[in-house]
Amino acid sequence: MREPAISSTAEDYLKVVLNLEDREETPSTSNVARHLEVTDSSVTDMLRKLKKAGLLEYAPYHGASLTEKGRAVALKILRRHRLVELFLCQVMGYRWDQVHQEAEDLEHVVSDRFVERVDALLNYPDKDPHGEVIPDAQGFREPEDDLCLASAELGAYIIRRVASSNPELLAYLEKEGLLPARILSLMERAPFDGPLKLLLTETDTVCHIGLDVAKHIFVFPMKKRADARRRPAKKAASSSRRKARS
Ligand SMILES: [Zn+2]
Repeated sequence: MREPAISSTAEDYLKVVLNLEDREETPSTSNVARHLEVTDSSVTDMLRKLKKAGLLEYAPYHGASLTEKGRAVALKILRRHRLVELFLCQVMGYRWDQVHQEAEDLEHVVSDRFVERVDALLNYPDKDPHGEVIPDAQGFREPEDDLCLASAELGAYIIRRVASSNPELLAYLEKEGLLPARILSLMERAPFDGPLKLLLTETDTVCHIGLDVAKHIFVFPMKKRADARRRPAKKAASSSRRKARS
């Protein structure tokens, strides 16, 4: 059952706080306001309400942090959002740059039954169309162990995820072939925060992207990936941990 006391606005606030905590940014009033494009004073009001409901810790000037209950709600919304995005892509033929806004609306209105049916229909996926991890039904998610392309050293990488909901940026990345699971070599880094030169392995093409674009791309070193494959025992350990935690 969904908790009827939580409005879709409140759900959006919890999701933003979770997102900021994930990025190790302080969920201050002004930071939350900026992400939701609302005024500081309306954020203060809502944060007080969420604190009263036991969903957040909140002190003026210190910002907010999720309580265990608040985190569970935020992860549930995130699960809905990402499953809906994948459903729109895989079943309904949306492009990856078209799904975010649709999912922003649907995540608040679909039932738990609908979400679990989608999960089963898609064969219990663990990643959304942007490569982001989908929390499981218990709210557990594997921690991200990727790194940002903007600060990566030269070498070969696989793209794990693209952390952006900007349709123009996503369409641009698709055009350049910079999609999750694609392999690239970071060949050169221009000085003074200049562009990165990439070689895309599948198509053997070179492209240059600005640092502002690279900040949204998260990658995993191919070398580490090969090392992990030589040690299959570790993978078994992580899947049993997943069961244990859920
Ligand atoms: Zn989205």
